[in-house]
Amino acid sequence: MGLSENITAVRQKIAFAADRAGRKAEDVTLVAVSKTVDTETVEAAYREGLRCFGENRVQEYLKKSEALPSDIKWNLIGQLQTNKVKYIINNGVALLHSLDRLSLAQELQKECVKKNTSIDALIEVNIAKEESKSGLYLEQVDAFLDEIADFDRICLKGFMTVAPYTEDRTYLRKIFAQAKTLYDAKKKDFPGFKYLSMGMSNDYEDAILEGSNMVRVGTAIFGSRIYK
Ligand SMILES: *Cc1c(COP(=O)(O)O)cnc(C)c1O
Repeated sequence: MGLSENITAVRQKIAFAADRAGRKAEDVTLVAVSKTVDTETVEAAYREGLRCFGENRVQEYLKKSEALPSDIKWNLIGQLQTNKVKYIINNGVALLHSLDRLSLAQELQKECVKKNTSIDALIEVNIAKEESKSGLYLEQVDAFLDEIADFDRICLKGFMTVAPYTEDRTYLRKIFAQAKTLYDAKKKDFPGFKYLSMGMSNDYEDAILEGSNMVRVGTAIFGSRIYK
């Protein structure tokens, strides 16, 4: 299938899942994960109406954001090295999905103060405690929120999680439900919370059914990634 058909199919599935969950399709933000995808293809997706794109490498993000229309909302989704922070602050990142440790928060705060700006960010949580993945464990979230409470340049917008790669949909749904419970609980203390970023090509419909309002979909839109 071509790009246009893929995007239509993903949009339909989002709408269908949102409907099943008793919500509106517009309430679910589609972030098209364009990592490894060339600039021309991203532009073609833009012409299909997509406006949110996700990248995980700073270098690649900078290259694409410079070449592509300025109304794109760029989402930084991958683990961010502390020494890369200086390249992304005040440089067009709409949302950082992967705030996962204190040292990163400190660097973000410091760089934002320096440049007199702020950054919108999601805290990444590792619900299933997979060692291969980054993100805070559920029981670490409260302490982390306390530690960064004075970091006024980091505008917390919610949580992001990557679910385990599994065919066991009951288990997946349980993981997503736990993230939703966390999100709802913290939303009471953080009025700025508005995103629960969960769901990828393999599992975005289940994620929406469990309360995701932001899905990060790469392969289902652009096809399999070719890593150079
Ligand atoms: C690559 C990536 C995605 C997209 O994955 P697909 O399976 O291609 O949809 C989503 N989220 C994160 C954090 C990623 O690194």
